[in-house]
Amino acid sequence: MINEKPRVRFAPSPTGYLHVGGLRTALYNFLYAKHYGGKFILRIEDTDRNRYVEGAVENLIDSLKWCGLDFDEGPGKDGEYAPYMQSERLNIYLKYAEELISKGKAYYAFDTPDRLAKLKEEQTARKEQSKYDKLALTLSQEEIKNKLDAGEPFVIRLNVTPGQRVIVDDVIRGRVEFNTDIVDDQILIKSDGYPTYHMANVVDDHLMKITHVIRGEEWLSSTPKHVLLYEFLGWEIPVFAHLPLLLNPDKSKLSKRQGDVAVEDYRAKGYLKEALVNFVALLGWNAGDDKEFYNFEELINNFSLERVNKSGAVFNVEKLDWLNGEHIRSKTALEILPLFKEELDNSIYKDHNFSDEHLLKIIDAMKERIIFIRELIEKSPYFFEAPNLYEEKAVQKRWKPETPDELKKLLSEFEKIDSSSKEDFENALHKSAEELGIGNGKLIHPVRLAVSGSSTGPGIFDLLHILGKEEVILRIKTALEKINN
Ligand code: GLU
Repeated sequence: MINEKPRVRFAPSPTGYLHVGGLRTALYNFLYAKHYGGKFILRIEDTDRNRYVEGAVENLIDSLKWCGLDFDEGPGKDGEYAPYMQSERLNIYLKYAEELISKGKAYYAFDTPDRLAKLKEEQTARKEQSKYDKLALTLSQEEIKNKLDAGEPFVIRLNVTPGQRVIVDDVIRGRVEFNTDIVDDQILIKSDGYPTYHMANVVDDHLMKITHVIRGEEWLSSTPKHVLLYEFLGWEIPVFAHLPLLLNPDKSKLSKRQGDVAVEDYRAKGYLKEALVNFVALLGWNAGDDKEFYNFEELINNFSLERVNKSGAVFNVEKLDWLNGEHIRSKTALEILPLFKEELDNSIYKDHNFSDEHLLKIIDAMKERIIFIRELIEKSPYFFEAPNLYEEKAVQKRWKPETPDELKKLLSEFEKIDSSSKEDFENALHKSAEELGIGNGKLIHPVRLAVSGSSTGPGIFDLLHILGKEEVILRIKTALEKINN
């Protein structure tokens, strides 16, 4: 495997949406492949027909693509190892199960569901691990043939010899040893002829020349079965890396009950894909320093499996929020513009036609103050329409008996400026304050209130500049009429 470019895969069972844990698995695979110039493969593990969900695969691919995780091979793409949907590969698996039977490493079993249920019941009563009792191995070749000829339903099971050691070398966990006493004679082919996850997974990883199996910790306990399958079939064992669990802040396993787990939920909430990917990358990995802000390139350059932790990773939404703000700030106004327009199209201002120039100025003035793009609208509605209301508290605090006269003076200076540049507004305001013999603040607060209805926002001269001379004059006049009346 030395000098070989890695081939890694994300192998989800389509459940209808992409779980953030799935995104983390996909991302680590993707980063690993890109870091080493290898291939990232998407394989859909849809052999459980009871779990079929309409549109699930499309949805999953959509979410992956939105995050920027484009796969090199997978459904809808031609690849040397197609098809990439296990339901389209069903004829492949039986052959290998039969090979295992011929080697004595698997066997036909004809147990009725009733017998298996009873067996389980008895084992539970004895406080034993529930395991198949290998009864089918007592059948003679002839008995097996007769049953098969008679069309009796059967499964094919893995023949695990008890009392053996199975070693799993894991990049993240080191050497993990299992005793085969606890490994069940796993069903490989079900009575409906479909392979189980274990069978299809190993066969496909082999046929698709997967070099590294990077997946969630919940699969570690299945790995001894996989290792046995590789050994029995005489195949090279891939490198394993089992990623730590994702936890809620209370250290319980991340679940739907505590909040959103689907990538599409985060997308709908207005998180940037860059922030979500950055956040998810840090769920179990760091580069060995305090750096937390990463763009895609940096993640690819810095990622390594060796630096993935064993212990569970806490899913902390506050950090995601912080990263979202950071990623917004790392973008230029031009990059933010289309995202901003999308939000405007979904807002009450969708029918207004704001110029790009106006919107770009708003972005520049507000970008430091937001966590979500939609806050460009929510936090500064005054850029889109004149205020109807004036913040009550600010009026009480800032609107003194002398304010109207002072503002009238300011108004007369504003009327004289010939552009809406920040400098012109600034000079006019300073001049008014000076001639009135008052501090600038005595004008700045009331004029902010007058033009925006609010006591907070971007710098006052940014605000005036963005609104423009005419609008500012109009709004001051309106405020002079409305406030105190
Ligand atoms: N189909 C399994 C899942 O849904 C894949 C596990 C693996 O990567 O082997 O997660």
